[in-house]
Amino acid sequence: MNFDFTNEQKMIRQSIKQFVENEIEPIAEEIDRNHRFPRETIKKLGEYGFLALTFPKEYGGAEGDELCKTIVLEEIAKKCGATAGIVSVHYLPINLLLKYGTKEQKEKYIPKLVTGEHIGAFALTEPNAGSDASNVQTTAVLDGDDYVLNGTKCFITNGGEADTYIILAMTDKSKGTKGITAFIVEKDTPGFSIGKIEDKLGICASSTSELIFENCRIPKENMLGKEGKGFKIAMVGLDGGRVGMAAQALGLAKGAFEETVKYLKERNQFGKPLIKFQGLQWYLVEMHSKIESARWLVYHASYLKQSGKPFTKEAATAKLVASETAMFVTHKAVQMHGGYGFMKDYPLERMMRDAKITEIYEGTSEIMKIVIASQITR
Ligand SMILES: Cc1cc2nc3c(=O)[nH]c(=O)nc-3n(C[C@H](O)[C@H](O)[C@H](O)COP(=O)(O)OP(=O)(O)OC[C@H]3O[C@@H](n4cnc5c(N)ncnc54)[C@H](O)[C@@H]3O)c2cc1C
Repeated sequence: MNFDFTNEQKMIRQSIKQFVENEIEPIAEEIDRNHRFPRETIKKLGEYGFLALTFPKEYGGAEGDELCKTIVLEEIAKKCGATAGIVSVHYLPINLLLKYGTKEQKEKYIPKLVTGEHIGAFALTEPNAGSDASNVQTTAVLDGDDYVLNGTKCFITNGGEADTYIILAMTDKSKGTKGITAFIVEKDTPGFSIGKIEDKLGICASSTSELIFENCRIPKENMLGKEGKGFKIAMVGLDGGRVGMAAQALGLAKGAFEETVKYLKERNQFGKPLIKFQGLQWYLVEMHSKIESARWLVYHASYLKQSGKPFTKEAATAKLVASETAMFVTHKAVQMHGGYGFMKDYPLERMMRDAKITEIYEGTSEIMKIVIASQITR
């Protein structure tokens, strides 16, 4: 076993840290306050190669390993949970196109996604299909050379901003999950529109919207993978996505921890710096221990994904532990900043709001427990 980072991984961490310092940290508060999608930042991340990291050279990728991607999400999330969320979800359709796409689909969509020219989204959830994702009601009916989509997706990250959407729709209701099929839908397709844009507790700079399909015709060449394989494709996508979400949670926790240590050294009460009080040191130890546990789970899940080994249980475990750590650490961090932690002048309250979503999307903590239990007991 080797716990050292490779030179490439160290270099990526160094360069993304620099990027975050120059391009992300300075606008993190403003984009949160204005609920402004940081399109220009995503484009720059693409220009610097951070969106292409693990993908094959023939589609504009850099063929780095999964841990590089994890490091990028972790470092972005230290300063901006919303941007990390946008990037994490953007990777999901790229991964699916790569794994299930035809040569034509890969050539058409991946190069623009890895440069940030286009943004990707993944749409499974519907008003009556949340944790129970099998209950998809959106239909896709073959009519000549087209599939005709009807239905509504909700809570879709990058909705309205994305150019390329992977949509899960029912092609044969009688077959249950085996009747669900994945499709690629381009943003300007007639019959496809954006519905309600959600106003959220956290990750306010990321866009979350409804997607509405009304007799939306898409050519049958836009089916991703085989008919009836959509549920499996979605679950594979979510396994990978959960490693990204776990990295996002880990970064948020580490970012809040680092801010807190710095603050406790600077702030004096009772004639000495707060960091000298044992009560607060013990909080720091609890935060540190949870972060370290989460960190190795996240890196291990990334390693398994990279190695092509099964990682469903490990991805769910990493997401469960890292997201609960992010919530614990950011909550304590606000407390340890006292009244200042509650104020928008400091980033802590934003971090706490941003952390909450990591316990919910791409499967709630309760669903992570179901996934882990099903792997343990099978
Ligand atoms: C900001 C945001 C962004 C999102 N982005 C996307 C996206 O890009 N694409 C996408 O497809 N979806 C997205 N989602 C949807 C997200 O994945 C779902 O909200 C989530 O899976 C939970 O579904 P639900 O909201 O319907 O809650 P419900 O399924 O109604 O769950 C409500 C509560 O019941 C619990 N629960 C449900 N079933 C069980 C059970 N069997 N045992 C124990 N407890 C259970 C849940 O854990 C939760 O606590 C996003 C959601 C949000 C809030």
